[in-house]
Amino acid sequence: MSGEGILGQGGMVAGLRVLGVCAALACAGFAAPAVAQDAARVSTDTVNALLWMQTSAEYKAACLGAYAAARAALDRALDDPEMSAALEQEAHPRGKPPAVILDLDETVFDNSPYFAWLLKSGQEYSAQSFGDWVEERGAEAVPGALDYIRHAQSRGVAVFFVSNRSVKLEEATRDALKAYGVALDAHGEDSVLLKRERRDWGMLKGSRRAFIAERYRIVQIVGDTLGDFIDDFGVTVPQRTQEALSQTSYWGTKWVMLPNPVYGSWENAAYEYNIKLDEDGRHAEKLRALSPWK
Ligand SMILES: [Mg+2]
Repeated sequence: MSGEGILGQGGMVAGLRVLGVCAALACAGFAAPAVAQDAARVSTDTVNALLWMQTSAEYKAACLGAYAAARAALDRALDDPEMSAALEQEAHPRGKPPAVILDLDETVFDNSPYFAWLLKSGQEYSAQSFGDWVEERGAEAVPGALDYIRHAQSRGVAVFFVSNRSVKLEEATRDALKAYGVALDAHGEDSVLLKRERRDWGMLKGSRRAFIAERYRIVQIVGDTLGDFIDDFGVTVPQRTQEALSQTSYWGTKWVMLPNPVYGSWENAAYEYNIKLDEDGRHAEKLRALSPWK
């Protein structure tokens, strides 16, 4: 969510930049949620998505498959010293040690219990309640994530976590990762890079990718929303689809996308980030965005 990536707000910010309405939103007092970046709002529309995440073998299989493909592609990437997965990387990264970047929410942490609680208690997402959930340190790992991290580290690859979680949640976040057995800061530097840890680390993640790329060759990125991979994509459904398709050769190799049917910038795009809409209005816009047979 603010989640990272939640459509991330990263995409949201990018899209709004395209529309040139950032200033207007600022005047309206709009504040991006601290967490789930992409999640911001959860409506009853999420019931099937949450059911899929929590009860289906299919969700688990999709995650395991994505991470298995990621491990295989990572091994191939390590054999190609010129290859980089980051658009922010300079042209010839040969000689730099390899690194991978993972998003956290719905990429490593399964926050579906928090969203199921929102749904069943009739509440909307808030940074406060998401923070309470994170502080409990009880999220289970997304299937396949920990095997992937162990594999990368066993190959000498630095693992960085780039998340739009609030800095206030860093201690709880690090505790949860350590409880999984994940070795943090293995290369002698902070490996958990949260939003606003530095002044220029905003909702968009490109500045953090560039920061890592100064010292590492970024060989793979894993996330659950477009903003985990690229900063600049449009606000509309056709624009973001066009941007994703323009990087066709990256998907499944340099960039690995985990399924997140609960929230994301894809949902915001369906109602074109119209923050004035209430839940019924958003639902109506989502129905309008569907393409029926007749
Ligand atoms: Mg995420």
